[in-house]
Amino acid sequence: MTFQERITISTTGHGDMADITTQVAQVVRESNIQTGIAHVFNVGSTGVIGMIEYEPGLQRDLPEILDKLMPPSRQYGHEQAWHDGNGHSHLQASILGPDFTVPIGEGALILGTWQQIIHLECDVRPRERTIVVTVMGE
Ligand code: ZN
Repeated sequence: MTFQERITISTTGHGDMADITTQVAQVVRESNIQTGIAHVFNVGSTGVIGMIEYEPGLQRDLPEILDKLMPPSRQYGHEQAWHDGNGHSHLQASILGPDFTVPIGEGALILGTWQQIIHLECDVRPRERTIVVTVMGE
């Protein structure tokens, strides 16, 4: 069967990382699916769903390395068209991707102890984010 639910979160702006593992695990519990997959998807082109060890060092390191690889700049093609200052946000979000899939076993997410599901805000201002969790299996 398939079960789907939406999670909403508020972000504080560029580089804000949120641990959403608890909310995703709750959706999996509600689904009653014992074996399958949970697909987690950020609606929008400047937010990321991914995986990390959620601790303060990496919370800082990941946005910092993304800003080194794809720094804020007014030179991006996106800027020429839109002038909204978030060309780097789109590029960072595209590289890391908007979704992540986790296996489910015995009715729970299969994750390492130091492996959390995160949302990373790449946009330059605070956003209300909708995250769709689709649980498939039996
Ligand atoms: Zn833009």
